[in-house]
Amino acid sequence: MTQRLVIGSRNAKKVKEMRALIRPSWELRPVLEGWEIVGLELFPDAPEPDETGETFEENARIKASEFAQAIGEWVLADDSGLTVDALGGAPGVLSARFAGTHGDDDANNAKLIESLRHVPPDRRGAAFVCRLAVADPSGTIRLEASGQCRGRIVDDIRGGGGFGYDPLFLIPEYHKTFGELPAIVKHQLSHRCRAFEHLRAALAYRNPLS
Ligand code: IMP
Repeated sequence: MTQRLVIGSRNAKKVKEMRALIRPSWELRPVLEGWEIVGLELFPDAPEPDETGETFEENARIKASEFAQAIGEWVLADDSGLTVDALGGAPGVLSARFAGTHGDDDANNAKLIESLRHVPPDRRGAAFVCRLAVADPSGTIRLEASGQCRGRIVDDIRGGGGFGYDPLFLIPEYHKTFGELPAIVKHQLSHRCRAFEHLRAALAYRNPLS
């Protein structure tokens, strides 16, 4: 018998990464045996939780817990974003709506370029942060994991891969942004891949159903 785990996000590009990372093609051991991974498209009426938390951790918990209670299923939620050193950690939890409209990547990127216009290259350090939370159907948080990835913000859009701030996020060792690097490389380096490594390990040792 399998247990359903619903990926609690309507951001199609984020969901694509989550699906790739939950059962990675490069992982030799069987992972998440006994779980059937499904998307929120099965639950079109589930209301979108308000991200009222002040941290990624709080928002991941809110999303997992509220979606789980609304649909009566196990839910995995991801709250993530960009923290820029020269902006005191902004946009942080406001990453998706930095320029005002939720999910307007072009406007968010334009605002980030403008905000750092006078910041020299050696002061453009930044980190992507990912926080994951798994809630059971009662809304209780049963597992959590987090990951970070450091890089530098460049001053022009580079590449069309990934999503969000990827075309501005340079991985110095590769001299390329996440927008330029193939998805398989992002999946080895990203904040999200690191969080999923922890989540998969936690699930391997501690099945929340048992
Ligand atoms: P959330 O859906 O509230 O977690 O917002 C996430 C926002 O952070 C997205 O809209 C992106 O702007 C940004 N973000 C999170 N993860 C990534 C990533 O892997 N690449 C680029 N931007 C990301």
